[in-house]
Amino acid sequence: MPPADSCADKVDSRWSGRSEFVAMRVAACTDRGQRRSTNEDAYWADPPWFAVADGMGGHRAGEVASRLAIETVKEQALLHRGATARDLVAMVEEANRRIWEASRTEPDFVRRMGTTLTLMHVEFPRCLIAHVGDSRAYVFRNGRLRQLTSDHSVVAELIRSGNLSEDEAAFHPQRNVLTRALGMAEELDVDVIQEQLFRGDSLLLCTDGLSSVVEKSRIEAILEHSMSPAEAGERLVAEANAKGGPDNITVVVVEIPAHEEPA
Ligand code: MN
Repeated sequence: MPPADSCADKVDSRWSGRSEFVAMRVAACTDRGQRRSTNEDAYWADPPWFAVADGMGGHRAGEVASRLAIETVKEQALLHRGATARDLVAMVEEANRRIWEASRTEPDFVRRMGTTLTLMHVEFPRCLIAHVGDSRAYVFRNGRLRQLTSDHSVVAELIRSGNLSEDEAAFHPQRNVLTRALGMAEELDVDVIQEQLFRGDSLLLCTDGLSSVVEKSRIEAILEHSMSPAEAGERLVAEANAKGGPDNITVVVVEIPAHEEPA
């Protein structure tokens, strides 16, 4: 894994997917941003597994929650071997249980310790995502960015029900309030998303430190004009910081090369 607060290009060794071999180019970056004193985001980028988590809670509890989420899914991936929708949901549920237990048993922690978690497994030609919270997974195809996940936030639900416009949402006082997160209750409802992939696609996982600050059209332009996932990741983080960097910023960029690389 690349060191925290840096971007590293990573070319994965080939592995056998469902129908063919594919190599991916991967970069992951996390940055504290301009206004926070700590980084409560965490990520995991170890092909074919990818995840981002955005922790919340006082006294560094958010940092503990996001790291616990990432550590748990890593460990579970080694145990499970499989990567069905049921496996991914079980991994996220296990992370939830551990954070819930830790928040109840550790006296130093404030009770409301939580985190988002977006976990992705890429098995070309498809990817599977298990998701809770307002971190995001996008697919970038033919110059267009499409959000694969739904935000589990008060504001996103008001938009979905037709009670709030996208423009109003940007300034809504409850724009950071989540309706679902790990660590809030013993039981957790986990979304599962499956997407068919094509050569030339890129996938982007990010926390809201990117998506609530950098416009979609700007993210598209950066992905389109970067020579590598590492360059894209660095430019996305720089863009969020240029817009004030109000929150921690984490991005994971996965590129499926357009052409098969020579063996
Ligand atoms: Mn955040």
